[in-house]
Amino acid sequence: MGGGTWHNWAGTVAARPARVHLPRGVDDVVAAVRAASAAGATLRPRGSGHSFTPLAATDGHALDLRGWTGIESLDTTTARVRVRAGTTLRALNAVLDAHGLALANLGDIDAQTVAGAVATGTHGTGARLGGLATQVVALDLVLADGTRVACSAGDDLFEAARVGLGALGVVTHLTLQCVPAFALHAVERPEPLDDVLADLDGLLTGEDHVEFYWFPYGAQALVKRNRRVPVGEAPAPLSAARRFLEYDVLENAAFGTLCRVGRALPRAAVPLGRVAAGVLSAREYGDRSHRVFATTRRVRFVESEWAVPRERLAEVLDDLRRLVPRLEHPVLFPVEVRVAAADDVWLSTAHGRDTAYVAIHQYVGAPRAEYFAAFGAVAAAAGGRPHWGKEHHLDAAALAQRYPRFDDVRRVRREVDPGGLFTDPYLEHVLGPVS
Ligand SMILES: Cc1cc2nc3c(=O)[nH]c(=O)nc-3n(C[C@H](O)[C@H](O)[C@H](O)COP(=O)(O)OP(=O)(O)OC[C@H]3O[C@@H](n4cnc5c(N)ncnc54)[C@H](O)[C@@H]3O)c2cc1C
Repeated sequence: MGGGTWHNWAGTVAARPARVHLPRGVDDVVAAVRAASAAGATLRPRGSGHSFTPLAATDGHALDLRGWTGIESLDTTTARVRVRAGTTLRALNAVLDAHGLALANLGDIDAQTVAGAVATGTHGTGARLGGLATQVVALDLVLADGTRVACSAGDDLFEAARVGLGALGVVTHLTLQCVPAFALHAVERPEPLDDVLADLDGLLTGEDHVEFYWFPYGAQALVKRNRRVPVGEAPAPLSAARRFLEYDVLENAAFGTLCRVGRALPRAAVPLGRVAAGVLSAREYGDRSHRVFATTRRVRFVESEWAVPRERLAEVLDDLRRLVPRLEHPVLFPVEVRVAAADDVWLSTAHGRDTAYVAIHQYVGAPRAEYFAAFGAVAAAAGGRPHWGKEHHLDAAALAQRYPRFDDVRRVRREVDPGGLFTDPYLEHVLGPVS
């Protein structure tokens, strides 16, 4: 079928695919690959469209995996699950939970497809834990010539395709290593930013999962500490009334209103940011891990996130603090800081080094170019690697300097897709031409 106009979640990327394939099985994926190839078109797989970069946008053929969902097998002895690519993290978490299992770590939301989230290096926070791609132990793909392959640790295709940006082939199944279900004991409270910065490393490594948010004009940070505890040993979840008040009203409806006012009246934005920081209140609660990790984001924003060596975080935040007041347009959204352990995934933003993530955001429709460029320059100078799914300015030449296995990814891509079926101008921009 023809596609009409497709938009990403933020509404900042649009495309009109010549044709959209909606596979319901692996045979349909093979047929889509062959159809695109026969038409001389390119083919881009896509998930929930939550990337801010145009990775899933195409004017060629689009392969929308959202109808290819479900669990193919789940082994509670090995704690492994084989899942279809278009399954959302939310649906996967529910099934795992029902079988006494969980993903070891998760990001902020669960609306992404498993394949889409893994393909861009989606991560949560935890100094001893890696992102989602580190939890993948095997992949099944359909390659550009229509063949099906299974790959796992030690295969070059696996190493390249885990965080593969949809450039190596269409992932049809992922096998994930899970852990026994666990709960989180969450303590969230505002703390003076200066205290947070005084012992950054101690803070970020001192608990299983730590992150903090900071409204750029405020002196307070909202610090979230999550400790892993056995199911049944966590405090009670927030009551339904408090969840409604804090998530629906304060974090979404009221915050959305503040952003709209700040966008319309830029001079009010700085005092409003202080108001937003001031309403942050302390809370302590517990719940199954996935219910604490993921929240609903209804206020639309645009994001740029950089992975910097953990030991350079303080200097990067210092520069960020200095640059925000000099911007022409005010910043309406908080900064988020998280951490991850070093991993060995070829295109993982945490490849080979303990990592701190600094995410900057702007309310959708508010000016962001100067802010994102200025912070991008700071983070890039500190050796930063941009999140593949979030806005950044680096091209393949610059990215190649930051990933020791970049050329290996390009070699594998040349081997499995010599004709460039899965490439397009944006992929060429970040990975370079196929040959
Ligand atoms: C509100 C919000 C919150 C977010 N929170 C976090 C967070 O906490 N942590 C974090 O790291 N990121 C976060 N992100 C970014 C998000 O996790 C990534 O952009 C992710 O890739 C989105 O998944 P998706 O299913 O929407 O994939 P899409 O954006 O649709 O696609 C992403 C990439 O995956 C490829 N792809 C999709 N399916 C397949 C397949 N079957 N085979 C091969 N390639 C495929 C596409 O070609 C594309 O390159 C957030 C984004 C938003 C909008």
